[in-house]
Amino acid sequence: MSGAKWDVAVIGAGPAGLAAAIAADKAGARVCLVERESRPGGILKQCIHDGFGLVRYSQKLSGPEYAWRDIQQIKERGIKLFTDTFLLGLERGKERFALTLQNSKQAVFPIAAKALVAATGCRERTARQVFIHGQRPAGVYTAGTVQRLINIGGHLPGKNCVILGSGDIGLIMARRLTLEGAKVLGVYEIKPEPSGLTRNIVQCLEDYNIPLHLSTTVSKVHGSERTEGVSICRVDEKLRPLPGSEEYVPCDTLVLSVGLIPENDMLLPLGTEIDPRTGGPVVDQLLATTLAGLYSCGNALHVNDLVDYVSESGEIAGSAAARSALGKQNCPRHVPVIPRGDIHYVVPQKLDIAAGGQGIIYFRAARTLADASVEISAGGQALQQKKYPAVRPPEMERIVLDLALLPPGTKELSLNLRG
Ligand SMILES: Cc1cc2nc3c(=O)[nH]c(=O)nc-3n(C[C@H](O)[C@H](O)[C@H](O)COP(=O)(O)OP(=O)(O)OC[C@H]3O[C@@H](n4cnc5c(N)ncnc54)[C@H](O)[C@@H]3O)c2cc1C
Repeated sequence: MSGAKWDVAVIGAGPAGLAAAIAADKAGARVCLVERESRPGGILKQCIHDGFGLVRYSQKLSGPEYAWRDIQQIKERGIKLFTDTFLLGLERGKERFALTLQNSKQAVFPIAAKALVAATGCRERTARQVFIHGQRPAGVYTAGTVQRLINIGGHLPGKNCVILGSGDIGLIMARRLTLEGAKVLGVYEIKPEPSGLTRNIVQCLEDYNIPLHLSTTVSKVHGSERTEGVSICRVDEKLRPLPGSEEYVPCDTLVLSVGLIPENDMLLPLGTEIDPRTGGPVVDQLLATTLAGLYSCGNALHVNDLVDYVSESGEIAGSAAARSALGKQNCPRHVPVIPRGDIHYVVPQKLDIAAGGQGIIYFRAARTLADASVEISAGGQALQQKKYPAVRPPEMERIVLDLALLPPGTKELSLNLRG
């Protein structure tokens, strides 16, 4: 029993999934959108600070304001949105994906879709993934949980807080906790440079006199019922604790901002190839994965810093999924994009040269470089170059390649970053 049949099913109604569903609908597909929470908007629902939409709308919006525009379009277009609905099972049939969904109204029920867009976002690393010693007292939270507790629940989780990790969520929460009356004693970052965007270091830490300690980490949480303090220590260039550098910092809350992991567990049984560098599926510029009919976008594909590019990837995946479902897609011809020099990762990992048009290439630098330049080449011939005053690993870069520039018989492309 396959249940209702759709051309395209989109899993996850964050900004990526919303954009994908709208684009698939515009391309003429019958679309449904599946969201496990009670409201669409994804992580944007809890991001009440501004800074969203500068690229897409040339405006500084809050997270809910940004999401509202797409949610309105979903309503106006009559796109079917299942909320409070969990994806329990996913299989690839001969012609369709078979999805098993569950919600309180329909219990467990099947649907089928010719194409699927995975827009499930990412999850936060927890204390278990960063090996902090000590017991498990209350008062240790991920930054996203603190954000949700304060901005949606109206609860202040602690009064004296230490933040481990200088990712953007941690920086934003340092400011938010301060504005809500908590004392942020410091942000401790194990690496010698911050992980978050420069604008967040300035606006969230420097403007509020919150100290940032680089090459320093939390080695132990003290307390058995509630957190009473943490031990911090300095680390060497190989990130090993420096003996004798340990200090005790009394606090009631430890906030972890130690990285995000693309959420793709549901795809693993399908055998889609995952790129170990991004944690997301291997895709081409249409965001087609290695499994026919399956597309990926947003933070599930790779962790983005700007929501505008999350929506951009949703639009690409949604319209490509619709074309695939409606049988309008040409047979793909892939060439790999090989990262060289100081590139940490590149998305897409390959280009479908039969699709033509433009390919948007996102990449991150492996280390900070001044006066950097990136070059795309094929068979030793430079096709495109872009210069940057500086590139930093926390800042995602984007370059658009016109596929008409590719010489005939191109077998592979190189993306080379040099300082
Ligand atoms: C604290 C913070 C601050 C940020 N600040 C900025 C900023 O200032 N400017 C900016 O441009 N960007 C910012 N970003 C980044 C931006 O918000 C994210 O990149 C963007 O929200 C990611 O969108 P997404 O749709 O990929 O994922 P999400 O927003 O995480 O949405 C994924 C959705 O999928 C649903 N889902 C997951 N699994 C399932 C399942 N199995 N079944 C059904 N549904 C499922 C989830 O419930 C969720 O609703 C910030 C992010 C954070 C966390």
